[in-house]
Amino acid sequence: MDRERLYIDGQWVEASTRDRIAVIHATTEEVMATIPSAHTADVDRAVEAAVRAWPLWAATPLATRVQFLHALAEQLEACKETIARTITAEVGMPIKLSRAIQAGLPPLVARSFAECVAMYPWEERVGHSLVVRQPVGVVAAITPWNYPLHQAICKLAPALAAGCTVVLKPSELAPLTAFELAEACDAIGLPPGVFNLVTGYGPVVGEALAQHPGVDMVSFTGSTRAGKRVGELAVRGVKRLTLELGGKSPCVVLEDADLARAVQSCVNECYLNSGQSCNALSRLLVPRVRYHEAVELAQAAAERFTVGDPFDERTKLGPLVSAAQRNRVRRYIQQAIAEGARLVTGGPEPPEGLPRGYFVRPTVFAEVTPEMTVAREEIFGPVLCVLPFEDEEHAIRLANDTTYGLAAAVWSADAERAQRVARKIRAGQVAINGGRYNPLAPFGGFKESGLGRELGKYGLDEYLELQSLQL
Ligand code: NAD
Repeated sequence: MDRERLYIDGQWVEASTRDRIAVIHATTEEVMATIPSAHTADVDRAVEAAVRAWPLWAATPLATRVQFLHALAEQLEACKETIARTITAEVGMPIKLSRAIQAGLPPLVARSFAECVAMYPWEERVGHSLVVRQPVGVVAAITPWNYPLHQAICKLAPALAAGCTVVLKPSELAPLTAFELAEACDAIGLPPGVFNLVTGYGPVVGEALAQHPGVDMVSFTGSTRAGKRVGELAVRGVKRLTLELGGKSPCVVLEDADLARAVQSCVNECYLNSGQSCNALSRLLVPRVRYHEAVELAQAAAERFTVGDPFDERTKLGPLVSAAQRNRVRRYIQQAIAEGARLVTGGPEPPEGLPRGYFVRPTVFAEVTPEMTVAREEIFGPVLCVLPFEDEEHAIRLANDTTYGLAAAVWSADAERAQRVARKIRAGQVAINGGRYNPLAPFGGFKESGLGRELGKYGLDEYLELQSLQL
């Protein structure tokens, strides 16, 4: 599959150079496609198209913009199976999960924005002023590879709803569904320049976008390292900025909780997408009195994760996205052992019978102390560490003992107590007793996990400037 061209100003156009990037299949390690490696001249062209398209799009009635969002959701729904299979090949997520999450979420999110604009306070009276909300302008959307289409839609849908135009730079590791998205935008007749796609490397295309004078807002999802760089560049131009970054999220199981259920759920959340989720619950915090029981439960849960071909419907854990990512995760496992953590299950060796593909064994560490690297750094692989706590206060302290603050979970038989603990955790979202993901609730991080929020009316806020009219 070759994706020859970029999508700019409503046209499929040649990039300014012939440079290409190979997209690698996570299971076969073969080149599954190539895409253009664009340069700054292409960024200029895309931003200019978005700037030109903006006034008309901003003036398009809200009802029309909402119709486009519904049409986009329908288009994406129509190619759900292709989307699921493409992402399973690129990223390695088991196909069943890929269908439900990678292909299932984007239309849901597009529709959620179509719905939330109806209740949105577009204008408010404050004393003698009328406060109106105006679209920010041109948005540069820079996205990662782990939920590639979902992350693009989390930016495109609110931008379209708000009246902004967009230039998307997807991750070079999993860029193929961004082409599906461009095709969908084309098919629904979105006006030229409202959505533009420029593929390429972060330090080239991403940095050019983040500092482009024509860009009014940068919405970035990715690592904290790259996010800080993007932030520096955007702030130089005083651009609106949202950052969705990494995490090292805790799962706090209080002593009155159903331990078996809580541990199973934590392992599932930690290993989802082979641990490549920004909100992965990678630190399991349990009462010291139940520590050994918890470790045994985690081991049993981890060992039930069948590793293998993600296209096999029975597989629960596919490969990681790339050789670099696999090697990085294996190094973290070796380092944890070297620092004195006890390897309960898994390990740095490749899983048996899988000589090809970027596989890592589902791994659990016990006897982990809060200073160890495995307890502090985002590993982005199927690696869980289990830490004991003495009492509730200690659990909260451990949960907050991180530079991140993206997600957390709390388990207790007493729902009020769980809520009380949740409110003390410095994280953007806390699941209580297995509370499910909600696309209308804000998603984003405290501390080094980010700036701003995505999803729901909170996500829409980011794409709007407030203007006061003093009457
Ligand atoms: P990454 O930071 O390497 O890349 C993300 C995007 O930024 C890619 O498109 C990449 O090309 C681009 N990029 C890289 N360097 C850049 C630079 N100097 N300037 C501009 N753009 C640049 O991240 P990744 O490896 O693709 O994704 C994994 C990371 O993303 C993890 O840390 C994960 O926690 C985080 N993440 C966060 C969320 C969230 O919502 N908080 C969601 C998903 C992933």
